[in-house]
Amino acid sequence: MTQEIGGFAALGIHPSVLAAVTAVGYEEPSPIQAQAIPVILGGHDMIGQAQTGTGKTAAFALPILSKIDPARREPQAVILAPTRELALQVATAFETYAKQLPGVSVVAVYGGAPMGPQLKALRMGAQVIVATPGRLVDHLGRNDQLLSTIRMMVLDEADEMLKLGFMDDLEVIFQAMPESRQSVLFSATLPHSIRAIAEKHLREPQHIKIAAKTQTVARIEQAHLMVHADQKVAAVCRLLEVEDFDALIAFVRTKQATLDLASALEAKGYKAAALNGDIAQNQRERVIESLKDGRLDIVVATDVAARGIDVPRITHVLNVDMPYDPESYVHRIGRTGRAGREGRALLLVTPRERRMLQVIERVTGQKVGEVKLPTPQQVLDARIRKLTNGLAPLVSDAEGSHGELFDRLLGDLQCSPRALGAALLRKVTNGQSLSLAEIEREQPLVPNAGPQRERREREPFDSAAPRERRAPLPVSEGKARCRTALGTRDGIAAKNLLGAILNEGGLQREAIGRIQIRETFSLVELPEDGLDRLLGKLKDTRVAGKALKLRRYRED
Ligand code: ADP
Ligand code: MG
Repeated sequence: MTQEIGGFAALGIHPSVLAAVTAVGYEEPSPIQAQAIPVILGGHDMIGQAQTGTGKTAAFALPILSKIDPARREPQAVILAPTRELALQVATAFETYAKQLPGVSVVAVYGGAPMGPQLKALRMGAQVIVATPGRLVDHLGRNDQLLSTIRMMVLDEADEMLKLGFMDDLEVIFQAMPESRQSVLFSATLPHSIRAIAEKHLREPQHIKIAAKTQTVARIEQAHLMVHADQKVAAVCRLLEVEDFDALIAFVRTKQATLDLASALEAKGYKAAALNGDIAQNQRERVIESLKDGRLDIVVATDVAARGIDVPRITHVLNVDMPYDPESYVHRIGRTGRAGREGRALLLVTPRERRMLQVIERVTGQKVGEVKLPTPQQVLDARIRKLTNGLAPLVSDAEGSHGELFDRLLGDLQCSPRALGAALLRKVTNGQSLSLAEIEREQPLVPNAGPQRERREREPFDSAAPRERRAPLPVSEGKARCRTALGTRDGIAAKNLLGAILNEGGLQREAIGRIQIRETFSLVELPEDGLDRLLGKLKDTRVAGKALKLRRYRED
């Protein structure tokens, strides 16, 4: 607990920096800030260990800015961050805290952007350099004196930095700075390799550690759901119906999975997008911006692509695929509960992953309780609740021109108010099922993973297997199931398939039912009515450069 009177004011930071912090609206320092700021102001080397989301940026930015000499137009502090996104984030934070410090400027130095503007900002006398190691080494190649005036350096997210293989670059950078500098290292974890760096390059560092358990997870409510691997997408769709989220980030393990899940959610009407390492940097930044301002509500990401995302709107983190280790679990769920808000973290667990769940519970020191898959009844209740909530504010002033229009429609259509109301509801709900029976058919899931299904999960689900699969999903009413030999190994996602069929078949989205994409084939439900004619139209359609060749598919 940090409750000292005076909060930031008592820590001794420069009055202009304090004014900027007050303007941002921080009320009191976080624990790592309360402990690290005096140490850094005092000129000591330091190792700070605290989890994501604990406010490490301000913990070093505030004291460093307090010690910059605006009169000297030369590099005085260098901050190293592992990725471009993080470097930009840290640079932006520095700019915010330096708003009331005239003559202090910050340059972000990172790869994938032209050198020119970065060189110019350096020539103009920026005192703070926020850099990724690779690009900073490039700059050193042009000017080996670039860091000769550095007095303070910070290694931010040191563990991530080493995971990304920046060790050699770091050595080059350390060598290019005066030995008399002050060095500070921040890391969520302190593996042996980090201790070795500290030993070699830090001088009698003070060690500050904020216990992970109380810090990271306290504001985040965690739960897990047992599910089979092949039911994850359906389970996610159902969970999202009843979860009350503002913005959500879903984690999966592969690039393909980001695309598949994002398009499945888009098809359900969510504003969703994929974020993975194949997506160009500027496009990635656009996705994050859209999540910030509400043009997107869901981002489906891999761990690498999501590194450093800081979007206060995120209320939910959904771990669709298990993280590889407890540290990345803690990193992931740190995407919510930002800036003191509440967050919720959900974890899908397949039967084989039960052990990993126990490890996570041990490391975070918290029980991750179980939730069950929402029942069709709960889904229905949630849909009706959302509908009611959406209509409630409109009802109070529904009279006026819309009231008159309603009366006129009653006359024009010659129907009862109840029939007209029902028709309007059907329209506003976009054909969404609002009856229990329909919802049951819509999401025919085995409610929770049972032991007798465990075996099946291991069997490859490929083109040879479906005959042996028992209890295939029933075909939606009025639809016929069709099959193509194209699947994920051909680079197909639901979105491509859907796009091709809509375009070439001249269909509306509602005409197409469930789409299942597998590795070596895909299934899609098309209208039974006129199917042969439609398949004729699609005869020569190509998707991802390959012939689609859709055929009616028979289970038996
Ligand atoms: P970390 O680097 O530890 O992951 P950040 O420095 O990115 O954490 O901070 C996480 C979030 O908390 C940011 O949105 C930041 O603006 C906010 N924050 C930092 N310090 C405070 C504070 N003292 N009071 C309120 N919010 C804060
Ligand atoms: Mg950080």
